[in-house]
Amino acid sequence: MFFCLLCHGLTPPQQDLCPACRRDLPWNQHHCERCAEPWPTPFHGLCQLCVADEPFYDQCFAPFRYDFPVDQLILQGKGGKRAELLYALGRLMAEALLQQDVVLPDAIVPVPMHPQKQNKRGYNQAGVLAQLIGRRLGIPVHHDLVLKVREPGDQKNLSRSGRQHNISRAFRVQRNRLRACQPPLRHIVLLDDVITTGSTINQLSRQLRSSGVERVDGWALARTGKDIYTQPSSPL
Ligand SMILES: [Zn+2]
Ligand SMILES: [Zn+2]
Repeated sequence: MFFCLLCHGLTPPQQDLCPACRRDLPWNQHHCERCAEPWPTPFHGLCQLCVADEPFYDQCFAPFRYDFPVDQLILQGKGGKRAELLYALGRLMAEALLQQDVVLPDAIVPVPMHPQKQNKRGYNQAGVLAQLIGRRLGIPVHHDLVLKVREPGDQKNLSRSGRQHNISRAFRVQRNRLRACQPPLRHIVLLDDVITTGSTINQLSRQLRSSGVERVDGWALARTGKDIYTQPSSPL
């Protein structure tokens, strides 16, 4: 017997969610074709920000909007107490990637955490997700190509360019390791749990591209909407 992680009702074999709960999830159906920012109505094209300031990545993919209950599932999942929630979302993400014929990369690089923070938590949720997605899709995962060398601090009151500058100093691409990869990594996906402003993915894409990578995409479980600084609701 399999029980739904959300409503505890019966589910089909090997499924994490019952069909009703699965249908009710905040799927990111309409969005900017470049940055995956959710759009309330059917939409084809690019958002204003992507037109005004072209990102360094080719495309972002996020199957969900960062909205109830996915926001709660991610918070609980990465809090460590209910890791199975993160895995369930990861499996749904892998399915969505295949269904939507998303272009698959040569390698997945999880967005790193600062080592101190990671030691405290014991793992990097982006790394855990990258392993799961990589295994399901048959894509190698590289954990050591990008390092987080400092915390960018509070970004809330910074302008877009201020945020970019701050983030550019937070990460370092390990160019020697990247160049040593055989066959060479021409197309890399940066994977995170949530894409908020897209600044992190954009800066890392810039650095990877200036290190010779031809194409960089960003994948995440969920993408926040317009009101980018809305605090997620408190855990259930
Ligand atoms: Zn259910
Ligand atoms: Zn956009």
